[in-house]
Amino acid sequence: MIEYIVGALVASLLGFLFFFNVHDKRRSDSGEEELGFDQIRDECVKSAANGECGSDKMSAVDVIVVGAGVAGSALAYTLGKIETCGAWSVGFTDLGICDFLDVLIRKPIPSEVLDFSPDKLLCWMCPEIQFDPYMLSGLQSGRRVHVIERDLSEPDRIVGELLQPGGYLKLIELGLEDCVDEIDAQRVVGYALFKDGKSAKLSYPLEKFHSDVSGRSFHNGRFIQRMREKAGSLPNVSLEQGSVTSLLDDNGTIKGVVYKTKTGEELKAYAPLTIVCDGCFSNLRRSLCKPQVEVPSCFVGLVLENCNLPFPNHGHVILGDPSPILFYPISSTEVRCLVDVPGQRVPSVANGELAKYLKTVVAPQVPPEIYDSFVAAVDSGNIRTMPNRSMPASPYPTPGALLMGDAFNMRHPLTGGGMTVALSDIVVLNNLLKPLRDLNDASSLCSYLESFYTLRKPVASTINTLAGPCTRCFLLHLI
Ligand SMILES: Cc1cc2nc3c(=O)[nH]c(=O)nc-3n(C[C@H](O)[C@H](O)[C@H](O)COP(=O)(O)OP(=O)(O)OC[C@H]3O[C@@H](n4cnc5c(N)ncnc54)[C@H](O)[C@@H]3O)c2cc1C
Repeated sequence: MIEYIVGALVASLLGFLFFFNVHDKRRSDSGEEELGFDQIRDECVKSAANGECGSDKMSAVDVIVVGAGVAGSALAYTLGKIETCGAWSVGFTDLGICDFLDVLIRKPIPSEVLDFSPDKLLCWMCPEIQFDPYMLSGLQSGRRVHVIERDLSEPDRIVGELLQPGGYLKLIELGLEDCVDEIDAQRVVGYALFKDGKSAKLSYPLEKFHSDVSGRSFHNGRFIQRMREKAGSLPNVSLEQGSVTSLLDDNGTIKGVVYKTKTGEELKAYAPLTIVCDGCFSNLRRSLCKPQVEVPSCFVGLVLENCNLPFPNHGHVILGDPSPILFYPISSTEVRCLVDVPGQRVPSVANGELAKYLKTVVAPQVPPEIYDSFVAAVDSGNIRTMPNRSMPASPYPTPGALLMGDAFNMRHPLTGGGMTVALSDIVVLNNLLKPLRDLNDASSLCSYLESFYTLRKPVASTINTLAGPCTRCFLLHLI
C-alpha cells in the first residue's frame, strides 16, 4: 500500500516538474520570459501608439484593481501574495504525507522547509538538481495584479482612522497586521459614553483573544501607505498612478479599464477580472450596482493637540445635542474629534458660521479635560468636513467585474465599521478565488462569485445593521 502511495507521490512531483518545465518552455518560445511583470506593463505603455495595450501581452495580468485605498491596497496584497503554499501545506499535513516523504528520502524534513513552500521543498529534496529560478518563482507566485490609483501620495483625510478589533483580526488573516506598526497607531480597548455630564466605560470583550488583539486608531493615510508599500513590494503586483475613466464593456463582459496616466495619456488595460475599489465617491459603480446613496449627516473633523482623553485608549462618544460627538486618539500626541452635523450641509467654513457653531453648540458639551484643546483646534482653523454616506449592497452581477469597499456598500461611519467590512469582504473573496488559477471564463466566474454576496453577510450585515439603528438611536436620543 505504502509503495502505491509513495509511487503516486513521486509521479505527482514529476508531473508537477514537467508541467512547470513545459509552461516555462512555452513562455520561453514566445520570448515572454525576458519580460517581468513591470516590464510587460512598461512595454505596453511605451508601445501604445493608439493608447491600446495588446491584449496578448496584457493577459499577463490576472486582476486589475481600481483604487488603492483601504480595500484596494489590502486586496492587491492579498491576491498578489503566495497562496499555493497554503494548498500544499494543507494537503501535506492533512494527509500525513510528511511522514511518507521522510520514508521516501530517508531523512526527516527540517523545520525550515516545514512551511512546505514548494520551491524550498523541491530544492531540499533534490539538492543535486539545479532548478531554474524562473520555474521556482512560478511555483510560488501569487496573482499578477495591476493596481491603478488616482493619487499614490499619502492621503490626508478624516476617514478610516479607527479600526475595530474585528478589523484587526481580519488584518491578521490577510497577513497585513504589521501595517499598523511604525505609524504611531494607538491601541483602543473600548468606548467611553458620555451623557448629561455622566460617563460609562465599555470594554471590548477580548478576553479570549491574544493580548495583541484590540482596536487600532491611526492616521488613515499612514495606514494606507503601509499597505500600498507592502502590496507594491510583491514582484507580481504593480501600482501605477492613473485615473480610471471607464470600464471596457464588451457585450456585457468587462474586459478591463480605460485610464489616464500621470502624464495625461489615455490607455487601456485588460484583465480577466477588474475589481473596482474607488471608494465612496465611486464614478465607476453605476454600471455595476444600483447606487442608492443616503447622506443623513456630515462629520466635521478637528485635531486636538497634546491633550489627554478622560479614558486613555478608549473611543469617546458624547451623546450630544443635536447629535453625537466622537473623540479618539490618532497618534501619541493627537486626538481626532468628529462632530456629527445632521443634514447634507454644514454651516459655512468660509464665513465663520461653522466655527461659531462648534464654539457655541458643541464646545459646552465637550468633557472639561479637553475643552481648551477643543477650542484651540477650532481657532486653528483646520476644520475638515465629510458627508456620511450609507448605501446598501445591491450589485448587478457582471462578468469580468466586481465591486469592493465603499464603492460596493457603505454604512454610517459613527460605529467605525467600514474598514472592517472591507477587510472581511476581502477575506471572503480571497477564499473563494484561492482554488481557481484561471479567471478567464468570465461568465462561469461571475456565477461562481454570486456566493460571495451570501458568504459576506454574517459579518457585513451585522456591522451594517448595528451602524444604522445605532446611529438613529443616538440621533433620536433613545440612548
Ligand atoms: C467621515 C468618515 C469617517 C470614517 N471613519 C471610519 C472609522 O473610523 N473606521 C472605519 O472602519 N471606517 C471609517 N469610515 C469608513 C471608511 O473610511 C471606508 O469604509 C474605507 O475607507 C473604504 O475603503 P475603500 O478602499 O473602499 O475607499 P477609500 O479608502 O476611500 O479608497 C478609494 C481609493 O480609490 C481611489 N480612486 C477613486 N477614484 C478613482 C479612479 N477613478 N481611478 C483610480 N483610483 C481612484 C482614491 O484615490 C482612493 O485611494 C469613515 C468614513 C467616513 C466618511
